Parts: sequence; structure tokens; C-alpha cells
Amino acid sequence: MINIKDLNFKELENWVKSVGLPKFRAKQLSKWIYNKKVSSYDKMTDISKDLRKFLKENTKLNNLELLSYEKSNIDGSIKFLWKLEDGNTIETVFIPERNHNTLCISTQVGCAVGCKFCFTTKDGLIRNLTTAEIVDQYIQSQRFVGLDNRISNIVFMGMGEPLANYDNVKKAVQIFTDERMAGLSNRKITISSSGILAQIKRMYSDKEFPQVRLAISLNASDQKTREFLMPISETNRLENLMALLNSLPVKTGYRIMLEYVLIKGVNDSPKDAHRLAKLIGGNKKRYKVNLIPFNPYPSSPFERPEKERVEKFQKILWQYNIGAFIRWSKGQDISAACGQLRKKELERANLIKLL
Ligand code: SAH
Ligand code: SF4
Repeated sequence: MINIKDLNFKELENWVKSVGLPKFRAKQLSKWIYNKKVSSYDKMTDISKDLRKFLKENTKLNNLELLSYEKSNIDGSIKFLWKLEDGNTIETVFIPERNHNTLCISTQVGCAVGCKFCFTTKDGLIRNLTTAEIVDQYIQSQRFVGLDNRISNIVFMGMGEPLANYDNVKKAVQIFTDERMAGLSNRKITISSSGILAQIKRMYSDKEFPQVRLAISLNASDQKTREFLMPISETNRLENLMALLNSLPVKTGYRIMLEYVLIKGVNDSPKDAHRLAKLIGGNKKRYKVNLIPFNPYPSSPFERPEKERVEKFQKILWQYNIGAFIRWSKGQDISAACGQLRKKELERANLIKLL
């Protein structure tokens, strides 16, 4: 049985035709699913009963079941824990900001990349998410917060390495940006990657991959430290990564975000900051730096630096006229960075606030 949310517009049109329906049904279905965000065919009031029955019997519409959620009393962010059909769980974070709302979505159950500071990767990769599972995080979260609280920004910064699930992520981005489907702005979608060179090249030469923003988890300003924190760097070397990033065609308004998790005593010294500035060199206009103070978790091997140290790091970058922001993780009172709620919930399963 096909899942409607696995299909981009062209595929939806082809499917509609293949079952003998007129072409306009593709637009009509898209409107209900992506614009009105209904969760059942019965709500599609301008579709006949017979056709609704046919759709129900031949397609799947939903994927995610809300297991639990936590809302932060500090900043209003909401973490959702969803159950997939095979029993696996993933999370999504809704982040209300001053004049827009952002959704942080997952692309895999677990992750194979193995960064030392990351909770998501502890049990390795369990599996890729389907396109429908990626897209449904957006639909269900938007339904939960209400259509008035429009989600305008999507960041692929939840669980998993998006570029290791290339095809399904690509299709999800097509669905998000297609005017006839979710219709979000390309500039407001950010794919965050640990820096798999071959996949970044592939994405930029793929005409069918909608142009969106790129974020790279740099996390170190020298090869040795990066390799220690991110084993993927052994083959995807820092110098090659920077050379590639410096050569990408980047439109104005699409600055590449360099993410830098600050870890006490590992990569947070003034020396690291100066070296990062040198690494960026004359390409300041191409990048902005997001400093993310490390989020500790139970049994994590690292610590978060003091606030002063984080601010010092930022100031050094500013001295070089590099745009640098500190991203204190949202929802400190609930459960820190993406990937951690799931684990926490697994660990205290009997305390889950079932809805
Ligand atoms: N796999 C992709 C996207 C998901 S991780 C990537 O690595 O970019 C999203 C961001 O969370 C990355 O920048 C990562 O470095 C950061 N991150 C992971 N674990 C963290 C932790 N414990 N504290 C703070 N940031 C963390
Ligand atoms: Fe995977 Fe990103 Fe975590 Fe690294 S930081 S293990 S790439 S999810």
C-alpha cells in the first residue's frame, strides 16, 4: 500500500493517473494534507464518499503516533516523542521564536556517524526514516500547536545524519518547498550535516534537490581535535571540507552555518577561537558560526564550559568580524538537545506521560 506522504507532487500526480483519477485530484489531496493538515480522509469534504473509501482502502495517510511530549516553562519549546509503526521512537522539537516558529526534525532512528559528544549515536543506526515519517513530523507538530502558530522554519538537526538518508530527505525537502504542497520558503529550511564530502557534492550537483540552507557541524578548528570528536573526519578531512565549502555556489541570504559544539577543555580555548577565525580566513561573508554549549546527558564524558568562556569565544570571533551566535539549547528544563528525550523516555518508560 502506498503512503501518500511518501510522494512528491509529480509522483502523486502519476499515482492519481495510474488509478484512473483526473489530474486535479493531486492538487486537491495536497491541499487537504499539506495546507489544511487534516489527518483523515473523512475530513476532505469536497471528495465524494466513494472516493474517500477508495483512498482509505488503498493508501496510508498517517505515520506518527504521539507517545508523549514535554513543554518548557522557560521558552515554550515543545519536544514530541513519536512512535513509528515498527515500534521505534523519534523526536521533534517545536521552537517558538520572537517572530517565527522553527521545527527541528529527525531523519534517522539513531545515527551511524558516531560523534563522541552525541547521544543519538550511542546505539548506532537503527534505520532511515521514510519520507512520510519525515514529513509527518511537520504535519503532526503543526496540528498539535494549531494552524495559527505557523511553522515557517524547518531545521534538519534532530536525530540522524540527513545526508546519509539522501533520497528520503531530498523528497521531504521537495514536499516542504513545493508551492502545491507545504509551500515553505527554501531559505527557511536548513539541512545540517556532519560533513560527508561526497554527499554534499552530490546535493549541490543534483538539479532536483531544492536549494536550501546548509549547516555543517564543524566542532573543531584543527584536524586532530575534529578527528577525536568526529571519527568521520578521518576520511572527510577538515582541509578538504573547508575547501569544498569555500567552493560551493552560495546565494546571498544562504550563508553556510558552521555549528560548533563547545566542550569544556576540548575545543573551547581562546586558541581554538583564533584558529577557527583563521580557518574561515577571508571567507567571512560566506559563513556564520553557531556556538552550541555542550548539552550534558547522563553518563556523558564531557562538560559544558562556563558562560564566560563561551562568551569569550564568541568575542574573539567578533574581533575578526565573523558573525557568531550562541545557541543556548532550548528547553533546558525539559531535556536538552535533540535525541535525548527519546533516550530519557526509554530509560524511564514507566514514567511516560501517556496522552
Ligand atoms: N547529524 C547532523 C544533524 C543532527 S545533529 C549533524 O551532525 O549536523 C545537530 C547538531 O547537534 C550538530 O551540530 C551536533 O554537533 C549537535 N549536538 C549533538 N550532540 C550535542 C550535545 N550533546 N550538545 C550540544 N550539541 C550537540
Ligand atoms: Fe550523528 Fe549528527 Fe550526532 Fe554526529 S552529531 S552522531 S552526525 S546525529
